[in-house]
Amino acid sequence: MSDGLGLKNRGRTQADVDERRTAVEEFSGAKLESITQCCFDGEAASRNCENMIGSIQIPLGYAGPVKISGEYANGEFIVPLATTEGALIASISRGMSVINAAGGSRTRVFGDYMTRAPVLRVRDLEHACQTIQWIDAHEDEIKEAVKSTTSHGRLAKIEKFPMGRGLYLRFYFETGDAMGMNMATIASEAACRLIEEATGAELVSVSGNMCSDKKAAAINMIEGRGKTVVAEALIPSEIVEQKLHATAEAIVETNVRKNLIGSSMAGTLGANAHAANMVAAFYLATGQDPAQVVGGSLTLTDCENVDGNLYISVRMPAVEVGTVGGGTSLPTQSECLNVLGCKGNGKARKLAEILSVTVLAGELSTLAAQAAGQLGKAHAELGRGKKCQ
Ligand code: NAP
Repeated sequence: MSDGLGLKNRGRTQADVDERRTAVEEFSGAKLESITQCCFDGEAASRNCENMIGSIQIPLGYAGPVKISGEYANGEFIVPLATTEGALIASISRGMSVINAAGGSRTRVFGDYMTRAPVLRVRDLEHACQTIQWIDAHEDEIKEAVKSTTSHGRLAKIEKFPMGRGLYLRFYFETGDAMGMNMATIASEAACRLIEEATGAELVSVSGNMCSDKKAAAINMIEGRGKTVVAEALIPSEIVEQKLHATAEAIVETNVRKNLIGSSMAGTLGANAHAANMVAAFYLATGQDPAQVVGGSLTLTDCENVDGNLYISVRMPAVEVGTVGGGTSLPTQSECLNVLGCKGNGKARKLAEILSVTVLAGELSTLAAQAAGQLGKAHAELGRGKKCQ
């Protein structure tokens, strides 16, 4: 069958890519010269992008090095970041230099489960209860069904949420070093087939939205999704004054009135200055799924005045990252993972810890800039190239 442009060819060679690009040029009348400048071919990207015609390039810079003391990330790290927002990397770098002057940051991963939440149709409440009882009694069998679909994934637990003639099951998977969404989806389907056969409950959708993937959701804030990571730093008062031109007191007040009260008045999920900025630039550079920046936006930022010194922390409940699978093996993204020492097996939690400190640095710098009244000036100078008085 041919597509809307009359192309029958779904191939993945460079010639197929060129043929499609020419068809798009002819259809649209647009000259496609820049997107042709692509260092990965159709074969390399075949699992990531259908109908490939080239690539979009985003400027790549770096922030750091930053000192990190984590369970998985230990040492100094340069962080590659892909962005079009002028002033962002300068701001993160400033935060990192303050963290370094204060002796570095600390970070830990607290939870690590990818979730998928299918919804099943049941006849009534009694049928929902019977289905739950069967699931509870046959958890080992369900785990075996999952095992048949993946060598790295493991079903850790199932939460059940009956609702009318629907039964929502929230599956929690360990997914090794993969972000795990494909893995969890394939495994959930296998588990549901078994449940359907045994109970008569019928699968409506493998994703009943209680997962909750790519949506800002309270369940992810409370229960976590992917990795839950916390990072902290204690900045001595003299460093706050010399390097950030502010005081701990002013930064704490900015955090309370802006991130805590302002966010609460606006009804945001998550309470932070701009965590999504750091997460987006980090995800684009390292081959993560960019739509999962939503999970990063659930970050909570906390600041305290400790005897005039500034304590700052971020809690990230939904860091959905991997160091294998997805876009991580694309050549440019792969190189960025190598810069972090995070390519491949055994590195996903290290990547999450480095991300948390990158977010910490960006939050610190932006809060301090706002406390000192410098935010507009920095953006005008760095983002627009205009000198402010
Ligand atoms: P994936 O690339 O689909 O799967 C990961 C693969 O890596 C599996 O084949 C796994 O083998 C293998 N693997 C090798 N070494 C591993 C290790 N150390 N740890 C874990 N796995 C290892 O990636 P995914 O993380 O499951 O899914 C990510 C992709 O899903 C992204 O492209 C994302 O955009 C997309 N996505 C899909 C959905 C969905 O609903 N399907 C939703 C959102 C995003 P085994 O399976 O044998 O263990």
